[in-house]
Amino acid sequence: MDSDTDDLLLPCPVCGRRYDFLSDTEGATCDRCEADLDLYQATLNKARKLLDVAAIKLRDDPAQSLLLAERSRRLHATEEARRMIMLGTLCGRDYQAALAAWKLNCQAG
Ligand SMILES: [Zn+2]
Repeated sequence: MDSDTDDLLLPCPVCGRRYDFLSDTEGATCDRCEADLDLYQATLNKARKLLDVAAIKLRDDPAQSLLLAERSRRLHATEEARRMIMLGTLCGRDYQAALAAWKLNCQAG
């Protein structure tokens, strides 16, 4: 795997072995520690789907997009979720919240 693909891998919450949890090809049990990863994988997929819908809603319903992005971030705090929150606040014309979200995004790296 190249480094771009490695960035998409997430660690098993028990042993740290890295997986592509968003892929359907990965099993539901960790190959190394045999942890059941079904619930973890379902949570990550739910967070991903919330972000996908948030992106669709961004233009026509930025308030709903923001709510979906915040729900996604609570499930899985990713840089993409933080950016979607920032976009939701911008499209909702809440510029103070957008600035605060941007600052948080900068601090998070
Ligand atoms: Zn494991």
